[in-house]
Amino acid sequence: MTETSGPEVADSQAVLTIDLAALAANWRALAERVAPAECGAVVKADAYGIGIEAAAPALAKAGCRTFFVAHASEGRRVRAVVPHAVIYVLNGLLAASIPSLLAHDLRPVLGSLDDAALWAQAGAGRAWALHVDTGMNRLGVAPGDVASIADMGLVIDVLMTHFVSSEAADDKTNDAQIARFASVRTALPQARASLANSSALFLPQKPYGALVRPGYALYGGNPTPGTENPMQAVVRLEAQILQIRTVETGETVGYNAQWTARRRTRLATIGIGYADGLPRAAMGIDDRAGGEAMVAGVLCPFAGRVSMDLTMIDVTDVPKERLAGATAVLLGDGIKVDDLGRRSATIGYEILTRLGARYHRVYLG
Ligand SMILES: *Cc1c(COP(=O)(O)O)cnc(C)c1O
Repeated sequence: MTETSGPEVADSQAVLTIDLAALAANWRALAERVAPAECGAVVKADAYGIGIEAAAPALAKAGCRTFFVAHASEGRRVRAVVPHAVIYVLNGLLAASIPSLLAHDLRPVLGSLDDAALWAQAGAGRAWALHVDTGMNRLGVAPGDVASIADMGLVIDVLMTHFVSSEAADDKTNDAQIARFASVRTALPQARASLANSSALFLPQKPYGALVRPGYALYGGNPTPGTENPMQAVVRLEAQILQIRTVETGETVGYNAQWTARRRTRLATIGIGYADGLPRAAMGIDDRAGGEAMVAGVLCPFAGRVSMDLTMIDVTDVPKERLAGATAVLLGDGIKVDDLGRRSATIGYEILTRLGARYHRVYLG
């Protein structure tokens, strides 16, 4: 089954194809890996850019029952498409959101003493989830404060923490956080433990607890950087070639003349730019290689600055007869989100969560 959204294909200049069967397969693979622990799914930030309304039902159909979002507004969107989902809101408790949380049966992950007091006052009785900070210093109560929250009369269902460097398997911080978490757990033996994001599912310590929270790996990102990606690609991004031109040796390309042709160069101008989420930092300039696009099976480097709506690529090495009707593949055909992230001085997470609104979107599966 195929569904589409966004601008009509005839009116758009790039197509984003989202493989929901691959998303479901990724969830199943992770669920098998951690069993008998429960595998949830993190669908914050519009399901890492691919779309909550498509991703959440596909994950539910694969067997996922528990979803994590960052904002109450995202939780409401999950509730609308997966009515029986268990939904946790990771970013803590904002007083103004309490009526909405209660009305839509969203479970705030309490992340401070203030959160806990507010929630106790709201008369909820159940804390659902408490985030304890074991080293991130971002959200979460100090380990020493957990007992006083239990004293507020709140029943804590899930006790959660988050890793600082889970993608670095030999980082000692992982052991320290696991030990700190274990010491807090003894005070709340009935609570279900939840520690692991995507990369933590691949740690030798297997810190799965009772409930895991993968996000990135579900969407095809590599949870084990530096080694082969065990996940299936979910996203394919393809831009149209708008023009082809030849520039002579010594001519420059794009804003501020940052790229100079070292040979007679055939250039393609493609209909995608930073307004579509292609990072401007992927620019290809004279002394630093940038992004790459696959055209008719040939990797073509970016030439010059990425502009708002347009990018130029060097297609000299593509046989001329294969250029007719070809598109430029930015993600897919062997180019992974992690590759584009690295070539843009960022991470694949940012590539996914910035996927633009002007793409014609095709959902497969
Ligand atoms: C975003 C997030 C996750 C998911 O992390 P990934 O690295 O994308 O798997 C899990 N837990 C918390 C608290 C998060 O904020």
